[in-house]
Amino acid sequence: MKLPVFKTWFADTAVLRKEEKSIVIGLPTPFAKKWVSDRYRIKILQAAQEEDPTIEIIEYEVHSALSNPGSTEKVHLESLLDEEDEKKVRKVRGKEELHIGNGVTSKRLGIQYTLDNFVVGKDNRLAHAACMAAANMPGGIYNPLYIFSGVGLGKTHLLQSLGKEILNNDPSARVVYMTAEQFTNEIIDAIGKRRTKEFKNKYRNVDCFILDDIQFLENKDMSQMEFFHTFNDLYDQNKQIVLSSDSPPRDLDGFKERLRGRFGMGTVVEILPPDYETRFAILRQRAQDLQIIIDPAVLEFIAFHIETNVRDLIGVLMQTVSQSALNNMSPNVALVTEILEQQHKIHVIHSEQSAIGGRFESNIRTMQQIIDRVALYFSISKDELIGPDRKKEIKDARQVCIYLIRDELSQSYDKIGQTLGGRNHTTVLHAYNVIKTRLKTDFRLMRDINALKKEMGL
Ligand code: ADP
Ligand code: MG
Repeated sequence: MKLPVFKTWFADTAVLRKEEKSIVIGLPTPFAKKWVSDRYRIKILQAAQEEDPTIEIIEYEVHSALSNPGSTEKVHLESLLDEEDEKKVRKVRGKEELHIGNGVTSKRLGIQYTLDNFVVGKDNRLAHAACMAAANMPGGIYNPLYIFSGVGLGKTHLLQSLGKEILNNDPSARVVYMTAEQFTNEIIDAIGKRRTKEFKNKYRNVDCFILDDIQFLENKDMSQMEFFHTFNDLYDQNKQIVLSSDSPPRDLDGFKERLRGRFGMGTVVEILPPDYETRFAILRQRAQDLQIIIDPAVLEFIAFHIETNVRDLIGVLMQTVSQSALNNMSPNVALVTEILEQQHKIHVIHSEQSAIGGRFESNIRTMQQIIDRVALYFSISKDELIGPDRKKEIKDARQVCIYLIRDELSQSYDKIGQTLGGRNHTTVLHAYNVIKTRLKTDFRLMRDINALKKEMGL
């Protein structure tokens, strides 16, 4: 099993219960459940039996709490994997522990976050520049640095890389990175152990204090008060403070006014969802970081459809990669279509739905449906599809469209030509034959056409 496969399918997996003769394994989504139980049923059973020969059955259950990244219930299934896989996982785990400064650690899966592998686009340029500047001149004019955005847009990536960059520049610097949740838990713990005095001094002599997701401090007066004092001490000594949140300081509800005022004293930058070019560049960068060889058309397709945030974007990439590895084929658009459909990220017309209009509708409408679908599938506009552009990807899409209309609707070549921008009989016939010939050998084209047919319920 390749490591990305392992991470995608097993990182969020837990052994929920052990019953007589059986083990119940929890998976975060119905989709994950299906994949893991389809593909690894036997391997998992064998591995479980090695541990405990009385086990006869492995049951699989969906347990949505497992998709929560902070879930503490997770049990990693190393013992259920090959020794080879296990070694690799340990190796990666070793690198995962991010020790920053005075022993504060943050754990995470995946690649190292650096300022270099953060892809800069127009929507995150300012945030990236501010982090670079703060890293090069801690405690300078970008203090405090406050970055806000919706989820999955790169705050944690930037904050952690900023901390590492300060350490690179000065290995003796004391840098602390923590989430506001960890900060709160430490306070609660300190109170429980009657060690509030020690806690008060713990973060007051660091060189850079990075607190991620400060919205978590909302309505937590005790934590806010502690942070207020830490903040003031550090600020007075010109130490760098970096904060992230899901909203600008003025919109933070449940915060003491004096604290909110402090947040806005330095630089406040927003990160917006990336545009298409940046999304594509992020996917390319991530594929490169993970040493995955992947057709750029697949990356384009994902970038086109996933507009919400970078976490989702990368999630779809990882699923595509692991599923294609499971199927022993290279990632392709049809597979991505399937994944997106499962996650309801794209709407696919199924046969029952298209039957509503059914055969009594005029053919033109159905021709239009095919045109719309093909344009969407190849991420081009309808105008491009029926227009005169002869660029390869557009011409290819156009030929596929002609092929589908001819094959599925049995329209005459003349009629198809008229609908597709006034093309003549010979051109349309030629296009149809080109695809027909290519289909004999071109596996990818086959998948594309099958996926399109499936989408349209043809
Ligand atoms: P947030 O903290 O804002 O919720 P994260 O920093 O956790 O978001 O980002 C989610 C994922 O997207 C991470 O894997 C991160 O590395 C990646 N990511 C976000 N923005 C970028 C970018 N501009 N370039 C490369 N990777 C990015
Ligand atoms: Mg984050």
